[in-house]
Amino acid sequence: MTSQCLAGAAVRDAVFADLRARCAATGLRPGLAVILVGDDPASQVYVRSKGKACESLGFHSETHRLPADAAEPELLALVARLNRDPAIHGILVQVPLPSHLSAARVQAAVDPAKDVDGFHPENLGRLLAGAPGFVPCTPLGVSVLLAHYGIDVAGRHVAIVGRSVIVGRPLAMLLSRKGDGGDATVTLCHSRTPDLAAVTSACGIVVAALGAPAFLDRRHVARGAVVVDVGINRIDDPEAPKGQRLVGDVAPEALDGWASAYTPVPGGIGVMTIAMLMRNTYEAAAGRGARA
Ligand code: NDP
Repeated sequence: MTSQCLAGAAVRDAVFADLRARCAATGLRPGLAVILVGDDPASQVYVRSKGKACESLGFHSETHRLPADAAEPELLALVARLNRDPAIHGILVQVPLPSHLSAARVQAAVDPAKDVDGFHPENLGRLLAGAPGFVPCTPLGVSVLLAHYGIDVAGRHVAIVGRSVIVGRPLAMLLSRKGDGGDATVTLCHSRTPDLAAVTSACGIVVAALGAPAFLDRRHVARGAVVVDVGINRIDDPEAPKGQRLVGDVAPEALDGWASAYTPVPGGIGVMTIAMLMRNTYEAAAGRGARA
């Protein structure tokens, strides 16, 4: 079977071209502030990519670095200052935070109008209610990527493996909502789902977001299904230039030559996540919450 590779770069390029045109037409200069606490290596990489994306779009960007032992009041004071800063339209608190800090408390302190990550309870509630608001970037990226490649989820059965607030649960809301980009029947799976393979192999679209390298194989994916691999896992590989490489949550045997279409890792949903962060930041600068 010939499988279509759903690359994120083509979609990102289209999104960026649209944002550049909208900035030129409106004269807006969106501003994004990223807060990084500690020195988690993966977080450093993500924060650098976000800065580069801002630079390529001509957005204003700031990175605020706090030591790993920063106290929560210090972090909350920084968030409050950025909430008041008129040059900043989007605020992102890079997770994971060190364990003595509460990500939920810090995210709830971000002004919902600047919550471009979409993790504020108000924006999550809006998503649940079907009201306009910021949608978390990774699920939004999945939805926009599928639409770009003409994969309509309406009336289809989608299995999502992973129920986190960052990925699985908001994605279930997006794909099952009434109307454009929605109308799917969604089954949300997790670690207590009995016989996962029986559930996922009965679905035409499988989204893997569990964080386990190459966990889903051909038993989990029906031949000809669409596979969206959200997973980003670093595994040791002595052959790789840095001794490590990135792999998804789906084994290669269940992708190219088996699925009808699949997202690559890297180069799939990770690329989309950053593109959607830029889109949300533009929408924040324009004074409105983004929707899929
Ligand atoms: P979490 O660890 O927060 O959630 C993982 C989910 O997977 C949980 O709901 C868990 O179930 C479920 N799960 C774990 N093991 C199994 C299993 N064996 N069978 C069924 N379900 C299982 O992860 P995240 O949602 O934060 O991230 C998931 C993956 O996506 C990671 O690889 C992460 O790196 C990647 N990611 C990629 C992004 C991107 O930009 N592409 C952005 C964000 C994340 P339970 O709830 O029962 O514990």
